[in-house]
Amino acid sequence: MTKKQLRSLTERLLEAKSQLVRRIQRNRHDFSDSANWPVRDSGDRILECTKNNYLQGESSLLCLNLRLIEDALERITLGTYGRCSECGKPIEYKRLSAVPWARLCVNCQGREEMRDLSPPWTAAFRPSI
Ligand SMILES: [Zn+2]
Repeated sequence: MTKKQLRSLTERLLEAKSQLVRRIQRNRHDFSDSANWPVRDSGDRILECTKNNYLQGESSLLCLNLRLIEDALERITLGTYGRCSECGKPIEYKRLSAVPWARLCVNCQGREEMRDLSPPWTAAFRPSI
């Protein structure tokens, strides 16, 4: 990945983050007295998010997305962005361009989804061949 590509992905992450934060704040405004929601920094925001998101369907999804984006931005700071956190191989730029907060390469993502679809206990019920 070139520096220019990284910069454009960073910008997209920051933009997506500010949009999410705005939407989360708007949702909160709808659900509760906004005076109860002092927003100081993003750490606070995430904490409040995880504590309070279960009652608010859309917000919980937004909070999850926000966490993924925050994680990606942290990886950029650490210099580990763009590497698969499972196998350590570089994630294709094409994939990052579609999903800038991707944490896994296509292969590992595929494996993770397979795992989700077939939890370990189903193996016990499979007839032996
Ligand atoms: Zn991988």
